[in-house]
Amino acid sequence: MTRYAFFEGAIRPIEEARISVMTHAFNYGTGWFGGIRGYWNDAQQQLFVFRPLDHYRRFLNSARLLMAELPYSAEELTTITLELLRLENWRGDCYVRPVGYKADELIGVRVHGLRDEVTIFSVPFGRYLQAEEGARVGFSSWRRVDDNMIPARGKISGSYANSALIKSEAVLNGFDEALVLTHDGHVAEGSAENFFMVRHGALITPPVHSNVLEGITRRTVIQLAEEQLGLRVVERDIDRSEVYLAEEAFFCGTGVQIAAIASVDHRTLGNGGMGPITTALRDLYFRVVRGEEPKYSHWLTPVYASEPVLTAGR
Ligand code: PMP
Repeated sequence: MTRYAFFEGAIRPIEEARISVMTHAFNYGTGWFGGIRGYWNDAQQQLFVFRPLDHYRRFLNSARLLMAELPYSAEELTTITLELLRLENWRGDCYVRPVGYKADELIGVRVHGLRDEVTIFSVPFGRYLQAEEGARVGFSSWRRVDDNMIPARGKISGSYANSALIKSEAVLNGFDEALVLTHDGHVAEGSAENFFMVRHGALITPPVHSNVLEGITRRTVIQLAEEQLGLRVVERDIDRSEVYLAEEAFFCGTGVQIAAIASVDHRTLGNGGMGPITTALRDLYFRVVRGEEPKYSHWLTPVYASEPVLTAGR
């Protein structure tokens, strides 16, 4: 149970972190957010936050897209997050949700000249997608928001109505997740995750100008694939029918982690199980985020002092 939130400049009991129904962001979707995972390492009795600075840098970029001005740096937001997690004293995997929002209580559609606020809370967290080992995916009848509508490279609250329509359609049609096309008919991403496929042994993903979120996990996967698996990674437009012919495909993101795609539009990919490249990347990713790959420990920020602080409860 979440007990605390950072709200209006201080860490407070979660019950006190309340906004009004008149709040601008609640009315108009003029908020932006992040999603960061904390991974529990039982052997080390340590909680590792994965790439918090990179997440907060993107958070501040999303803020800039909405002309928001915040009095915090990425470093300061990371420090607040660590303090919050220490207070919660999570002893298991968790998820941190920072939200920025236009806080004025007034009627009037705009982004300029409004008060900006940040709130941060955390929850215990397991899987986001149950079918991580082999998701059944369908192409959405919705299109991804375009850069000239709501920039998808930022994590802007209003654009998640697009994601929600995409996800619900997929689930109600019997799929686990959806793939979404851009307006010009190329593959963008999933409802809340980036997309990779393997063709002719190379790892291929849509470029950042394909109306995708500039994913931290996407960047992580590209680096791990090149450095550790010696794979060729290509960022280029992907046709829908190419996905049907892929040897392997997977989604990646903070929530979904690395989730294999078993089929797309009822067409089985590869042998229908998790392919060797997806398996290798997924295993490596899980070792990295749990602090079992020293080469990438700079991506991890430990929450607790090196001497574990033993407290009652959790
Ligand atoms: N695309 C969308 C639309 C998302 O919501 C997410 C989740 N944040 C991602 C991709 C993956 O991004 P990241 O790896 O930074 O979590």
